[in-house]
Formats: sequence, C-alpha cells, structure tokens
Amino acid sequence: MTEELAATDAYLREATARVTDVREEGIVLDRTVFYPRGGGQPGDTGTLHWDGGTAAVTDTYKRGGVLFHVTEDESPAVGTEVTARIDWERRHYLMRTHTALHVLSAVIWRDFDAKVTGGNMEPGRARMDFELENISVEFGRDVERRLNEALAEGHEVRVLFMARSEALEDPDLIRTKVNLIPEFVDPIRVIDIGTIDRQADGGTHVANTSEVGPVRVTKTESKGKGNKRMRIELDP
Ligand SMILES: [Zn+2]
Repeated sequence: MTEELAATDAYLREATARVTDVREEGIVLDRTVFYPRGGGQPGDTGTLHWDGGTAAVTDTYKRGGVLFHVTEDESPAVGTEVTARIDWERRHYLMRTHTALHVLSAVIWRDFDAKVTGGNMEPGRARMDFELENISVEFGRDVERRLNEALAEGHEVRVLFMARSEALEDPDLIRTKVNLIPEFVDPIRVIDIGTIDRQADGGTHVANTSEVGPVRVTKTESKGKGNKRMRIELDP
C-alpha cells in the first residue's frame, strides 16, 4: 500500500520515497505526493529524481489497490530512494477547478433543487450534468453570477474523515449518494466547504473558495430529458 500524502495535504509538492515495485504499468512507491486519477480529477504528472537518474511521470492511477506512477523513461531499481515532485502549476489549476465544481453543484442544489448526474475536469475547464428540465444561456449567466458570489464569500475548504456510520446519517452526504461507497471504506473522506457543501470525495482542493478566482459558464446544453450540461472555465 502506498501512503497517499495528497489525501491530507493537497499543498505538498514533493516528498522523498522508496521504490517498492517496478511493473509494466509503472513505478510503485512506499509514499507519494502524486494524486491518482479518480472522481473526475485527472492523475498527476511530474518527475521522480534519484541519484543518477530522472523519470518523467505522465500519469498516475490506481488499479487493484496499487498506485502506479506511469513513465516511459528508465525506472529506478526497487529499493532506490527517490524525490517525487508533482507538476504543481497543473495540480493547483486542477485543485481550483475541482473546488469550483463542488461549489457549482452546491449552488444548483441550493437554488434550483437539482442534483448532479455526472462531471469531468481538465486543468481550468470542466463540465457538469444536472437533473434539470430546462437550461438556457440566461440560466447559465444567472448561475455564473451566483457561483462567483459564493466563491468570493471565502469559505474554508476542509478535509474531514468521518466514521461510515456517521456519514450515512448526514443529509448532504446522503444526497450525494454516500451509500454507494464500498462497505469496507471506513472512515470516509469528506470535503467540507463551510456552510455551502459537504460531499464524500477523494480529490484535491484549494484551502479556501476565494483561491478559485473568477469562473465563467461557457456553455449550456441539453443532453436529453432531465439531463442538462454546463461547461465552465477558470482564469489561468
Ligand atoms: Zn469532487
């Protein structure tokens, strides 16, 4: 098992670690700052440095509980101590984007009673689908204004670890389908955004909504009955 340092400190840019396995899928470390893709957030990129070598990491993902650092470069031998360093600019952009999506989902729920049906993100741009009957350019503008107001309020974003039994009783977590998380997951990691939002989530977020910056709703489209899509973009 790799200790995932980003789960408790999203602002950590590098850490030393030891290589525990080298497979076709990638390099396995005893601990890492790299976030493995999941929950709509792409995996981290960056580099591994060691005495006598460097490898560029082009993706990070988990399969069968194992966290792989994907590289096409030469790998360090098992047992080597490495410095793992993420591409911080890209990651921080993803953190801002991910927090913006949570606040967007919260605003749409709070003001329009619509749940999220899906979503995805890249650095600085994202889409989210909602159980809405109608959508329009005007609605997009209205949501954009409400979203930016909520972000500018400067809500603290905290990572909580809640006992599963407690999480299953929390109204916000019930709404976001906490019951679908596999039963062996306990405690459950939760992203809490002040009075705005709370949901079970594995991703990395900024510490305060004011760090997101201005967000634009760039597109609104229908993806069928009761399924409407919104696209957003952030400043660089
Ligand atoms: Zn999320």
